[in-house]
Amino acid sequence: MTPRHVLKTVFGHDEFRGPQARIIDDVLAGQDVVAIMPTGAGKSICYQVPSLIRPGTGLVISPLIALMEDQVRSLRAAGVRAATLNSQSADSGQVWRDMADGQLDLLYVSPERALSEGFAALVARVEIALIAIDEAHCVSQWGHDFRPEYRRLKPFCDALAGVPRIALTATADRETRADIAHQLGIAADRVTLSGFDRPNIRYQVAGRDNLKQQLLTFLGQHRDQAGIIYAPTRNATETIAAFLGEKGIRARPYHAGLDPVSRARHQAEFVSTEDMVMVATIAFGMGIDKPDVRFVAHAGLPRSIEAYYQETGRAGRDGDPAVAQLIWGGEDVARQRGFIAASDGNEAFKAGEARRLNALIAFLDTGGCRRAELLRYFGETPPASCGNCDNCLNPPLQLDATEAARKFLSAVYRTGQRFGAGHITDVLAGKASEKVAKFRHDGLALFGIGRDWPAEQWKALARQLEAMDALERDAAHGGLVLGPAARAILKGEVAISLKQAPPRPRGSRRSDSNIDGSGDTALAAADQPLFEALRAVRRELAADAGVPPYVVFHDSTLRAMATSRPGDRDALARVPGVGASKLDRWGPAFLAAIASSAD
Ligand code: ZN
Repeated sequence: MTPRHVLKTVFGHDEFRGPQARIIDDVLAGQDVVAIMPTGAGKSICYQVPSLIRPGTGLVISPLIALMEDQVRSLRAAGVRAATLNSQSADSGQVWRDMADGQLDLLYVSPERALSEGFAALVARVEIALIAIDEAHCVSQWGHDFRPEYRRLKPFCDALAGVPRIALTATADRETRADIAHQLGIAADRVTLSGFDRPNIRYQVAGRDNLKQQLLTFLGQHRDQAGIIYAPTRNATETIAAFLGEKGIRARPYHAGLDPVSRARHQAEFVSTEDMVMVATIAFGMGIDKPDVRFVAHAGLPRSIEAYYQETGRAGRDGDPAVAQLIWGGEDVARQRGFIAASDGNEAFKAGEARRLNALIAFLDTGGCRRAELLRYFGETPPASCGNCDNCLNPPLQLDATEAARKFLSAVYRTGQRFGAGHITDVLAGKASEKVAKFRHDGLALFGIGRDWPAEQWKALARQLEAMDALERDAAHGGLVLGPAARAILKGEVAISLKQAPPRPRGSRRSDSNIDGSGDTALAAADQPLFEALRAVRRELAADAGVPPYVVFHDSTLRAMATSRPGDRDALARVPGVGASKLDRWGPAFLAAIASSAD
């Protein structure tokens, strides 16, 4: 069996993508590999195909139970003999008997299970095709999700001499990549990097002024689509989900503090439906293999560029258009600076974290292409413009704000460094608020000197000054105080430019319609009814089989069916995504729907 033969008969695809073929050849030749591949690039194919070809069982170490169960479900639907062993699985006896008999192609285990007593001895008695270490960034303290138990995987792998090991992750900057290879005992020159670009994801960033309203507007452009909103706290997930529920949007909260039953129910509901919004802390998502997530919105600052890339990477895994929307405020930056200062890491660790935060701020602050900014962070040299981010679609106006920044910083200083951006804006705008009267700020020389600017613009400037470290938050009262970068601005040594949304977003209506519906813009109007009919067939088959609709077929496969209208079994087998097992099981129902649409 050749890799291509396996790809076609089992998974229904004709061609490998990107570096898949090269990685598979290396693993088949018994070599170790560190593979860095973006989400949606088909990471798992890189160990699934060689596991089906090499003698013995492929051992996959993966940190989250939900992810393993999802993969096993999809593999079984494709006719692959796969099983999981984790802290929750009961009958491991059958699994070991199957392995000993050569009846198991892939075994997914949690790291805890792999490292548990006796596991190594049992594994030594059966034939192992390869060891795949998924989410390999967990082995590095530089990764965004360090798990100490991953450090014990190297001795485990070393005990299985001659078995190729393949470490995989979607996200790792230069330092993390080198660390993964080192920690897992893989030669540094065995790192394979495929591009980080996710061209189908549109990146958008906005300052936060009224979060709920901003989310509502955003969701209005994504009706009846599945998506994730990441909120900074457990409390925020609950509040936002309740608010969206009141507005008639199907939304559920998800966080580590929720009771396990509700958490599992919300997750299952999200995976098995096509239109739900999950409002979650970052506790949600790593184990989710749902391909049709159409948007990921951040209601606060992610922890780093890597975390942002990982979290937004959960959108559009099926390759259809998706949107990543980030809404941030100055206090987010203050909070992260506080976390870094308070962490018990050493100085080198803190310096590394500060560098990461600054890279994130540069991403927020750029007036240039967001995608280019992201890809440069991962060491690539992308084109200057992508045509699919907010700045490329609607280039912001650059406003000279040097004088305004001095006014704002002076106002912070003159009012005693204890107020927030709202009050400082009132003072500059000459607004006769209660607070202004109480503190007699209407008597200040700079009262009303900023009337020429709207309030939102002053607040945007405050956000930018805070991100630049020209403003900080006082830990005790939360008011703005001058930061280390303020001095040079006040002395006129630094020019400040403020990004401003263009007055009338050019082309935004048209571009929004690209992501309306379910990303099925490639479909001609005449094929739309058949596509909807095929989706209905899929929903029914999925419900019967007790699996999410995408396990039956992805949208892209249904779209190809609606366009090419296969008339018989052979023609259906040629549609991308239709493998032998699914053809037998589900082919007749889809062929019947296609035939009846021709009547
Ligand atoms: Zn761009």
